[in-house]
Amino acid sequence: MFTVWIDQDLCTGVGVCADICPSVFALGNDGLAYVTADGAMTDRGQVDPRHLDDLVDAAEACPQECIFIEIEDVVDPAA
Ligand code: SF4
Repeated sequence: MFTVWIDQDLCTGVGVCADICPSVFALGNDGLAYVTADGAMTDRGQVDPRHLDDLVDAAEACPQECIFIEIEDVVDPAA
């Protein structure tokens, strides 16, 4: 799983993230982007790895650079 979070202090609500990755992002009534992947509208949530490509595309396209991805459970192949 991945954790994605949005720094809503920087978000301008343009909605590029929701256009690129609607499975993970949506705009709220307050005009800010939210993470919706785990069923709630929060600024941080768990995301299934199958959304990773779209998630990275959205983070790269965000004009405010306010989408952050935390990768968990990294396995060291040398271990
Ligand atoms: S693309 Fe970035 S600035 Fe635009 S709504 Fe999404 S998180 Fe906010």
